[in-house]
Amino acid sequence: MTADPAGLALHQRTLSELAWGLTKGDFTSRELTELLLGRVAQHESLNAFITVTADVALEQADRADRARTRGVAGPLNGLPIVHKDLFCTKGVLTTCGSNILSHFVSPYDATVVERMAEAGAVMLGKTNMDEFAMGSSNETSFYGPVMNPWDTKLSPGGSSGGSAAAVAARLVPAATGTDTGGSIRQPAALTGTVGLKPTYGRVSRYGMVAFASSLDQAGVITRSAEDAALLLRVIAGIDRRDSTSVDHPVPDYVAGISKPVKGLRIGVVRQHFDEGLDPLCAERVKTSLDALNEAGASLIEIDLPSIGLSVPTYYVVAPAECSSNLSRFDGVRFGHRSADPEDLLDLYCRSRGEGFGAEVKRRIMTGTYVLSAGYYDAYYLKAQKVRQLISQDFKNAFERVDVIAGPTAPTTAFAIGEKTDDPITMYLNDIYTIGANLAGLPGISVPCGFATGLPVGLQLVGPHFAEERILACAHQYQQLTDWHKMAPEDFA
Ligand code: GLN
Repeated sequence: MTADPAGLALHQRTLSELAWGLTKGDFTSRELTELLLGRVAQHESLNAFITVTADVALEQADRADRARTRGVAGPLNGLPIVHKDLFCTKGVLTTCGSNILSHFVSPYDATVVERMAEAGAVMLGKTNMDEFAMGSSNETSFYGPVMNPWDTKLSPGGSSGGSAAAVAARLVPAATGTDTGGSIRQPAALTGTVGLKPTYGRVSRYGMVAFASSLDQAGVITRSAEDAALLLRVIAGIDRRDSTSVDHPVPDYVAGISKPVKGLRIGVVRQHFDEGLDPLCAERVKTSLDALNEAGASLIEIDLPSIGLSVPTYYVVAPAECSSNLSRFDGVRFGHRSADPEDLLDLYCRSRGEGFGAEVKRRIMTGTYVLSAGYYDAYYLKAQKVRQLISQDFKNAFERVDVIAGPTAPTTAFAIGEKTDDPITMYLNDIYTIGANLAGLPGISVPCGFATGLPVGLQLVGPHFAEERILACAHQYQQLTDWHKMAPEDFA
């Protein structure tokens, strides 16, 4: 584990560095928790949190300190974490960024939340997000947009924007997120943090409010690949309560990151550098690829012929699944219920009409349309077939290369309000990330420099269950560069 970084303020330290300090007894979890809760309060204007759970945090911190004294500390003992507000947390508000769930207190914990708590983590709160994780800028949240700590006029990306902003602003060293089309990796890129989306099925979805079940996957946002490895080891693995979680061995991801990149075959997708990518971002990504090349990896140009169809395919499949998943919010069982309905149909219509925001309604309508009898074959079935082609492209590519590297997002952070009137431009933000979701592959975004003062992300995608490999590559890159250590000026 990383040695003690002499002189580094506690809020600047990574999880691994904090774990070291806690083990040595330099500070207690309560001291650390109080300090970070103070920062969370101080920077409330970022709007990164929907709920701050100070009482839970202090109780968990004290418990962690007692466990350490007794010599029974788990792998995350006393370490602070925040959860995206779509992970169910027992006894704590879980809104999913929506008015329809604005009073929902979950009766149980999501598996990810449960596993982290059992490992000794301390939950500071629940982070802001796009409503039902539908968005790329955090602007669809019922609770208002999140500010990007690098420039508060800009969006931190989305949908896990609150998690990314909190980690970038050094309010907390790590956060959970979910990624259906890029919602961990894109905000990580736009805030200069590390975002890991594991293989579909690697981490249980139990207790995650569903958006598009065949694409949703839980992951983490941290400041180092090492920390992502530490957390993945805790949350990965089969869960009998999620039939899509996979019974595949969970390696020691932390031990795995020391593997050098020498000999690694890195695929560079020709289509990724076509028009649409900001030239300054392209330059940063190319420089980072050169650095990996110099460290001994080889760069191999590859083609993903169907990748250009990934955004339209996603915007058929994801809304179709969402229209089905969100039908459970009907004002009857839980969630918002409209007052004084005229009859049952009116209750449904008004509860949903009042509870959902515009983007969610747009997706439900699109999804219902593509699944309707007359259009199912033309849209949904066609999209499923194209999804297969995209998966096959990746499969073919991974016969020649070990990882695929390229940009995470087409631009750096954009202004809040800049793209809200044009959903298509907003959807194109995920052009480089969606392919991995459609194919169920693991991906990670690591900071790889700055363009006009704003962070740029490098994305690494691996074959199924190759988290160890992409984490090692990301970690080795972070040994060569210091981009991930740079903090936004007002949050240093
Ligand atoms: N931005 C994409 C969307 O709006 C992806 C969201 C996500 O990954 N949750 O659907």
